[in-house]
Amino acid sequence: RTPLIVLRGYLEMMVDEGGEKNGNTGALQSWQMPIKEMSTQAVRMGRIIEDLLKLARVESEGLQQKQEVINVPQLLASLVANAQKTDDKNRQISHEFDQSLFLHGRPGELESVFGNLIDNAMQYTPEGGVIKVRWWVDETAAYFSVSDTGIGIDAKYIPRLTERFYRVDPGRSSASGGTGLGLAIVKHCLEHHDAELQVASEINVGSSFTCRFPRYRVHLRTAA
Ligand code: ATP
Ligand code: MG
Repeated sequence: RTPLIVLRGYLEMMVDEGGEKNGNTGALQSWQMPIKEMSTQAVRMGRIIEDLLKLARVESEGLQQKQEVINVPQLLASLVANAQKTDDKNRQISHEFDQSLFLHGRPGELESVFGNLIDNAMQYTPEGGVIKVRWWVDETAAYFSVSDTGIGIDAKYIPRLTERFYRVDPGRSSASGGTGLGLAIVKHCLEHHDAELQVASEINVGSSFTCRFPRYRVHLRTAA
């Protein structure tokens, strides 16, 4: 991480100081484009490294992380509030939580799972779309789902989504900064919770990602 932080720092300085408004012309000026591009790519590389480190952590020590009974509705409420606050595309983000539904698991991992799926819905749903976050239980399992009215995914790509670095449309998602590690992290974290991911999607209609947690992890609490 540190070497990249140094590179990024100097590149940003060069972008700031090399511009025309600082009276630079000629050679210095013509390097502005490549320097900006290097700076952008260095930021991306930083994100990839963060994600890889996270994935490595999840894989190696995930199972040692302490398990506890997690107030999932509370965790989700804060993730949804954050999505609503940062939404700059006028989407309708709604939620429907079973307030009494708690889960036995590893809080850091579950936050990664829920956060990544909400992030994806935000990333792949255009202006004015609808995003719904749900958390409910039936006789056999607890379910978390995020559905969106976004760009959708062709059925033939769905089996590959959880591979590391896999992106359906690398051109488009690199423009939006994705590295293709989010769902790989989700998959690993879910495996640690004996849970599974179900994906349903249709191009230009939308997607829904559902996590199914076995019933023995469920703790029903009456709200305080
Ligand atoms: P990041 O590592 O930043 O999460 P990413 O979002 O590209 O990058 P994943 O979260 O692993 O990577 O998702 C993999 C690919 O699956 C995405 O690049 C995108 O093509 C597709 N995808 C995931 N979620 C959605 C969604 N809600 N709607 C449409 N496509 C999606
Ligand atoms: Mg993602």
